[in-house]
Amino acid sequence: MTKKLHTSQALVDVSQQLIESGLNKGTSGNVSVRCDNGFLVTPSGLNVADMTADSMVYMQIDGQHTADKKPSSEWQFHRDILQSRPEVNAVIHTHSMFATTVACLHKDIPPFHYMIAVAGGDSIRCAPYALFGTQALSGHALTAIKDRKACLLANHGMIAIGADLDEAFAIAVEVENLCEQYWRLLQITPEPPLLSADEMREVFQQFQGYGNWNS
Ligand code: 13P
Ligand code: ZN
Repeated sequence: MTKKLHTSQALVDVSQQLIESGLNKGTSGNVSVRCDNGFLVTPSGLNVADMTADSMVYMQIDGQHTADKKPSSEWQFHRDILQSRPEVNAVIHTHSMFATTVACLHKDIPPFHYMIAVAGGDSIRCAPYALFGTQALSGHALTAIKDRKACLLANHGMIAIGADLDEAFAIAVEVENLCEQYWRLLQITPEPPLLSADEMREVFQQFQGYGNWNS
Protein backbone atom coordinates (compact mmCIF):
# COMPACT_ATOMS: atom_id res chain seq x y z
CA MET A 1 0.00 0.00 0.00
CA THR A 2 1.38 3.44 -0.90
CA LYS A 3 2.41 5.40 2.15
CA LYS A 4 0.82 8.86 2.26
CA LEU A 5 2.14 11.95 3.98
CA HIS A 6 -0.22 12.88 6.79
CA THR A 7 -1.18 16.26 8.14
CA SER A 8 -3.22 17.39 11.12
CA GLN A 9 -6.16 17.80 8.72
CA ALA A 10 -5.86 14.12 7.77
CA LEU A 11 -6.40 13.25 11.46
CA VAL A 12 -9.55 15.42 11.52
CA ASP A 13 -10.79 13.78 8.31
CA VAL A 14 -10.26 10.21 9.52
CA SER A 15 -11.83 11.04 12.90
CA GLN A 16 -14.92 12.24 10.98
CA GLN A 17 -14.89 9.08 8.83
CA LEU A 18 -14.81 6.97 12.01
CA ILE A 19 -17.97 8.73 13.23
CA GLU A 20 -19.71 8.62 9.82
CA SER A 21 -18.97 4.92 9.39
CA GLY A 22 -20.35 4.20 12.89
CA LEU A 23 -17.02 2.85 14.11
CA ASN A 24 -16.83 5.51 16.82
CA LYS A 25 -19.42 7.53 18.69
CA GLY A 26 -19.11 10.63 20.90
CA THR A 27 -15.57 11.10 22.19
CA SER A 28 -14.69 7.38 22.04
CA GLY A 29 -11.55 6.36 20.21
CA ASN A 30 -8.51 8.23 18.99
CA VAL A 31 -6.03 8.37 16.09
CA SER A 32 -2.32 9.06 15.63
CA VAL A 33 0.16 9.38 12.79
CA ARG A 34 3.94 9.42 12.77
CA CYS A 35 5.50 12.77 11.86
CA ASP A 36 8.97 14.35 12.01
CA ASN A 37 10.63 13.06 15.18
CA GLY A 38 7.37 12.34 16.95
CA PHE A 39 3.70 11.90 16.21
CA LEU A 40 0.42 13.76 15.92
CA VAL A 41 -2.46 12.51 18.07
CA THR A 42 -6.09 13.51 18.47
CA PRO A 43 -6.97 15.61 21.55
CA SER A 44 -8.54 14.08 24.66
CA GLY A 45 -12.27 14.22 25.28
CA LEU A 46 -13.17 16.46 22.34
CA ASN A 47 -16.16 15.71 20.11
CA VAL A 48 -15.11 15.17 16.51
CA ALA A 49 -17.54 17.91 15.41
CA ASP A 50 -15.43 20.39 17.41
CA MET A 51 -12.04 19.17 16.13
CA THR A 52 -9.94 21.30 13.78
CA ALA A 53 -6.45 20.74 12.44
CA ASP A 54 -5.25 23.06 15.22
CA SER A 55 -6.73 20.76 17.90
CA MET A 56 -4.29 17.99 17.01
CA VAL A 57 -1.42 17.49 19.45
CA TYR A 58 2.19 17.10 18.34
CA MET A 59 4.09 14.89 20.78
CA GLN A 60 7.72 14.01 21.00
CA ILE A 61 8.51 10.35 21.42
CA ASP A 62 9.17 10.95 25.15
CA GLY A 63 5.60 12.25 25.55
CA GLN A 64 6.45 15.95 25.73
CA HIS A 65 3.93 18.31 24.15
CA THR A 66 2.97 21.97 24.32
CA ALA A 67 1.31 22.83 27.63
CA ASP A 68 -1.82 24.36 26.05
CA LYS A 69 -3.02 21.06 24.55
CA LYS A 70 -4.23 17.81 26.04
CA PRO A 71 -3.33 14.71 24.02
CA SER A 72 -5.52 11.59 23.90
CA SER A 73 -5.46 9.72 27.18
CA GLU A 74 -4.20 6.76 25.12
CA TRP A 75 -1.07 8.56 23.84
CA GLN A 76 1.10 5.90 25.50
CA PHE A 77 -0.10 3.01 23.35
CA HIS A 78 -0.01 5.23 20.26
CA ARG A 79 3.59 6.20 21.11
CA ASP A 80 4.67 2.68 22.03
CA ILE A 81 3.23 1.10 18.85
CA LEU A 82 4.80 3.78 16.61
CA GLN A 83 8.11 3.42 18.43
CA SER A 84 8.28 -0.37 18.31
CA ARG A 85 6.86 -0.91 14.81
CA PRO A 86 8.89 1.11 12.26
CA GLU A 87 6.66 -0.09 9.37
CA VAL A 88 3.58 1.44 11.06
CA ASN A 89 2.75 5.12 10.54
CA ALA A 90 -0.89 5.27 11.64
CA VAL A 91 -2.78 3.95 14.68
CA ILE A 92 -6.58 3.94 15.03
CA HIS A 93 -8.43 3.04 18.23
CA THR A 94 -12.19 2.45 18.23
CA HIS A 95 -14.96 1.37 20.58
CA SER A 96 -16.88 -0.03 17.59
CA MET A 97 -19.91 -2.16 18.46
CA PHE A 98 -18.91 -5.69 17.50
CA ALA A 99 -15.18 -5.51 18.18
CA THR A 100 -16.02 -4.17 21.63
CA THR A 101 -18.69 -6.84 22.18
CA VAL A 102 -16.21 -9.63 21.43
CA ALA A 103 -13.51 -7.86 23.47
CA CYS A 104 -15.90 -7.80 26.43
CA LEU A 105 -16.00 -11.62 26.20
CA HIS A 106 -12.15 -11.65 26.40
CA LYS A 107 -12.08 -13.70 23.20
CA ASP A 108 -9.36 -13.88 20.55
CA ILE A 109 -10.90 -14.03 17.08
CA PRO A 110 -10.00 -17.46 15.66
CA PRO A 111 -9.69 -18.22 11.91
CA PHE A 112 -13.42 -18.79 11.31
CA HIS A 113 -13.11 -16.79 8.04
CA TYR A 114 -10.15 -16.42 5.70
CA MET A 115 -10.26 -12.60 5.97
CA ILE A 116 -8.74 -12.95 9.45
CA ALA A 117 -5.49 -12.96 7.43
CA VAL A 118 -5.78 -9.22 6.70
CA ALA A 119 -4.79 -8.56 10.32
CA GLY A 120 -1.51 -10.38 9.67
CA GLY A 121 -1.96 -13.81 11.28
CA ASP A 122 -4.33 -16.68 11.93
CA SER A 123 -6.01 -14.96 14.88
CA ILE A 124 -6.74 -11.50 16.20
CA ARG A 125 -5.68 -11.48 19.83
CA CYS A 126 -7.54 -9.86 22.71
CA ALA A 127 -5.29 -8.01 25.17
CA PRO A 128 -6.11 -8.51 28.88
CA TYR A 129 -7.97 -5.71 30.62
CA ALA A 130 -6.13 -2.70 31.99
CA LEU A 131 -7.43 0.75 32.92
CA PHE A 132 -7.76 3.13 29.95
CA GLY A 133 -4.99 5.72 29.61
CA THR A 134 -2.33 3.67 31.41
CA GLN A 135 1.11 2.30 30.59
CA ALA A 136 -0.24 -1.10 31.67
CA LEU A 137 -2.83 -1.00 28.88
CA SER A 138 -0.11 -0.04 26.42
CA GLY A 139 2.00 -3.02 27.51
CA HIS A 140 -0.89 -5.44 27.02
CA ALA A 141 -1.75 -3.89 23.63
CA LEU A 142 1.85 -4.14 22.38
CA THR A 143 1.96 -7.85 23.20
CA ALA A 144 -1.44 -8.57 21.63
CA ILE A 145 -0.67 -6.67 18.41
CA LYS A 146 2.79 -8.27 17.93
CA ASP A 147 3.15 -9.45 14.29
CA ARG A 148 -0.43 -8.27 13.65
CA LYS A 149 -2.21 -5.20 12.30
CA ALA A 150 -5.00 -5.29 14.87
CA CYS A 151 -5.91 -6.44 18.36
CA LEU A 152 -8.87 -6.26 20.70
CA LEU A 153 -8.67 -4.66 24.16
CA ALA A 154 -10.65 -6.52 26.82
CA ASN A 155 -13.67 -4.61 28.15
CA HIS A 156 -12.72 -1.69 25.91
CA GLY A 157 -12.41 -1.84 22.07
CA MET A 158 -9.88 -2.42 19.30
CA ILE A 159 -6.68 -1.05 17.79
CA ALA A 160 -5.94 -1.15 14.04
CA ILE A 161 -2.61 -0.07 12.54
CA GLY A 162 -1.17 0.46 9.08
CA ALA A 163 1.51 1.94 6.90
CA ASP A 164 -0.80 4.94 6.53
CA LEU A 165 -4.24 6.12 7.69
CA ASP A 166 -5.98 4.55 4.69
CA GLU A 167 -4.62 1.13 5.58
CA ALA A 168 -5.34 1.50 9.31
CA PHE A 169 -8.92 2.60 8.51
CA ALA A 170 -9.44 -0.33 6.11
CA ILE A 171 -8.16 -2.75 8.77
CA ALA A 172 -10.48 -1.23 11.39
CA VAL A 173 -13.48 -1.64 9.05
CA GLU A 174 -12.54 -5.25 8.28
CA VAL A 175 -11.93 -6.20 11.92
CA GLU A 176 -15.30 -4.73 12.88
CA ASN A 177 -16.92 -6.75 10.07
CA LEU A 178 -15.19 -9.95 11.19
CA CYS A 179 -16.24 -9.35 14.80
CA GLU A 180 -19.87 -8.94 13.73
CA GLN A 181 -19.69 -12.21 11.79
CA TYR A 182 -18.03 -13.96 14.72
CA TRP A 183 -20.60 -12.59 17.16
CA ARG A 184 -23.40 -13.85 14.88
CA LEU A 185 -21.78 -17.30 14.74
CA LEU A 186 -21.56 -17.35 18.55
CA GLN A 187 -25.35 -16.98 18.68
CA ILE A 188 -25.59 -20.31 16.84
CA THR A 189 -22.70 -22.29 18.28
CA PRO A 190 -19.95 -21.64 20.87
CA GLU A 191 -17.46 -23.41 18.59
CA PRO A 192 -17.82 -22.48 14.93
CA PRO A 193 -15.73 -24.56 12.48
CA LEU A 194 -12.26 -23.07 11.93
CA LEU A 195 -9.77 -23.03 9.08
CA SER A 196 -6.68 -25.16 9.72
CA ALA A 197 -3.11 -23.81 9.89
CA ASP A 198 -2.51 -25.27 6.38
CA GLU A 199 -5.63 -23.59 5.00
CA MET A 200 -4.55 -20.26 6.51
CA ARG A 201 -1.07 -20.68 4.95
CA GLU A 202 -2.78 -21.02 1.56
CA VAL A 203 -4.77 -17.87 2.25
CA PHE A 204 -1.57 -15.92 2.92
CA GLN A 205 -0.10 -17.20 -0.37
CA GLN A 206 -3.29 -16.33 -2.27
CA PHE A 207 -3.23 -12.82 -0.80
CA GLN A 208 0.16 -12.13 -2.40
CA GLY A 209 -0.68 -9.63 -5.13
CA TYR A 210 -4.37 -9.43 -4.17
CA GLY A 211 -5.71 -5.90 -3.64
CA ASN A 212 -4.02 -3.84 -0.95
CA TRP A 213 -3.98 -6.48 1.75
CA ASN A 214 -0.47 -7.77 1.24
CA SER A 215 1.59 -4.71 2.24
P1 13P B 1 -9.50 10.24 24.57
O1 13P B 1 -10.66 11.18 24.27
O2 13P B 1 -8.65 10.73 25.71
O3 13P B 1 -8.72 9.97 23.30
O4 13P B 1 -10.11 8.88 25.10
C1 13P B 1 -11.00 8.10 24.35
C2 13P B 1 -10.75 6.67 24.54
O5 13P B 1 -11.15 5.89 23.71
C3 13P B 1 -10.01 6.18 25.75
O6 13P B 1 -9.72 4.83 25.63
ZN1 ZN C 1 -10.81 3.74 24.23
